[in-house]
Amino acid sequence: MTGMIVSDNTQYLATPALPDFLQSDLTQCAKLPSLPMVAIRVLEVAGFPDATLNDYAHAIEQDPALTLRLISIANSAFYARNHTETHSCLEATSRLGLDATLAAVMSFSLWRDRRADDQVQCIWGRSIVSALAARYLAERLCPDQSNFVFTAALLQDIGMLALLAVYPRDAQELYVTAPLSHSQISDGERTRFGCDHPTVGGWLAARWGVPASLAQAISDSHGEISTRDGMHLLCLRLSGPIADAWMSSNPSQSLAVLLRKLEPLDITPTISLSDLLSTVQHQLPPLADLFDLTLPSAHDHEALVIQAQQLLFQQTLSLNARLDAQQQELDNLRQRQTELEERSRRDTLTGLANRAWLEEQLHMRFELCREQDRTMSVVFIDLDHFKKLNDRFGHQTGDRVLERFGHVLGSLVREGDLAGRYGGEEFLIILPDESAKGAQRFAQRIAKRLAETPMETIDGRELFVSVSIGIACLSDGGFGNGRELIDAADQSMYFIKRNGRGGISMYGH
Ligand code: GH3
Ligand code: MG
Ligand code: MG
Repeated sequence: MTGMIVSDNTQYLATPALPDFLQSDLTQCAKLPSLPMVAIRVLEVAGFPDATLNDYAHAIEQDPALTLRLISIANSAFYARNHTETHSCLEATSRLGLDATLAAVMSFSLWRDRRADDQVQCIWGRSIVSALAARYLAERLCPDQSNFVFTAALLQDIGMLALLAVYPRDAQELYVTAPLSHSQISDGERTRFGCDHPTVGGWLAARWGVPASLAQAISDSHGEISTRDGMHLLCLRLSGPIADAWMSSNPSQSLAVLLRKLEPLDITPTISLSDLLSTVQHQLPPLADLFDLTLPSAHDHEALVIQAQQLLFQQTLSLNARLDAQQQELDNLRQRQTELEERSRRDTLTGLANRAWLEEQLHMRFELCREQDRTMSVVFIDLDHFKKLNDRFGHQTGDRVLERFGHVLGSLVREGDLAGRYGGEEFLIILPDESAKGAQRFAQRIAKRLAETPMETIDGRELFVSVSIGIACLSDGGFGNGRELIDAADQSMYFIKRNGRGGISMYGH
């Protein structure tokens, strides 16, 4: 029976075209898996949700050799059991059931070389387990499409068979050089052949003339696991990883990965993984028989799922621990960052704000006042005859005086005010929402405190300092920016200097 092409449906695929070289190599390959007309008809029947056994039998009867094969399978030890021998295609089909019939047709059509290598066995093994898992899921999530999903899952890896036929050496290398995950295999295919096996499989199926929707599903069978693209694709896309877990040497680990993928999907109330595995286990042997496959021995599915859940739990725990550690590290970094920023704003000698921070804050505050029609005052303080103090008592004493003065200033400002060292022995205080009068009272408190509090005691003699203070209030002038406000306060301060020092002057008053 030859692979006669009924109609080429590749034009209906919403998938990127295969690279030219691949298309021409596939088209010319004599060993390419091909589907006889009868198999295509059977696939078409499978595409209808309400297909009956009669429809299947009718399609199969067109091929005597296939009909004989089905009857002999139906009469085999597994299916015959207590039944009498069957002679008709319909009886055989009804005894086998739809899935086994379909699988038998596929195995007969695509799996003719029974001595084929382990790799082909492995691919079909995965496909059969996938098909059963996909059907289990579909029966619960999209019952109308369960036949369709079964077929698509069964054919999801035919692209691998095609690539093996066309590029035996390259594909063998990719598929046999274990252990590659299925998605790594797809990555490798894209690098070597310019596209992956689901795309090749979809294209091939469309070339055979199978319904375009089926070919499209094969193309889409390996996409992202989510409910976004429809339940039938979700079932299909889950079926592969389930089969991988089933065939894996460490099934509980693979199942744990699967459980993690299932978690966000919100389908777990409908799907019991343990029940799914037990169903697959139950239905697998006859199906595997059809393909002459020896599949990995049965799993203790319940223990497996429990193990997988434990693993998942442990992984979640260690993941959480890792996240906690990262969070802690992040917090530390943030704190350090804040400390550094804080330090970069401080004057080291006095601990007050430094000039850069004062200017930045003043600028911000100025804009805020303009936007919200508010006021503010700045107070400029310069210590009197500080050079003389240094000359007389030494620079270190001068430093200590500056430090103490800073302390006094800090103790007099209210929350929301900002006091800083503007330079040398000059200080600036920003008083938000303060009138000139309020700023004056603040300045008077400073002067009073300085008159009462010695800044240093030298040889039993108390050292007092006086200051010259200039005040500028935003409401008292047409100031264009913060800089002009400081200049005004500075000018007022100089007015005091010129008039003998130790006093307070208000700009514009
Ligand atoms: P006036 O009353 O006119 O302000 O006289 P003044 O001496 O205070 O002003 P002047 O600007 O002439 O001198 C400021 C002095 O402050 C000179 C400088 O050595 C001293 N000074 C600036 N920064 C520091 C500092 O960090 N530590 C010490 N000890 N002295 C400083
Ligand atoms: Mg000065
Ligand atoms: Mg001075």
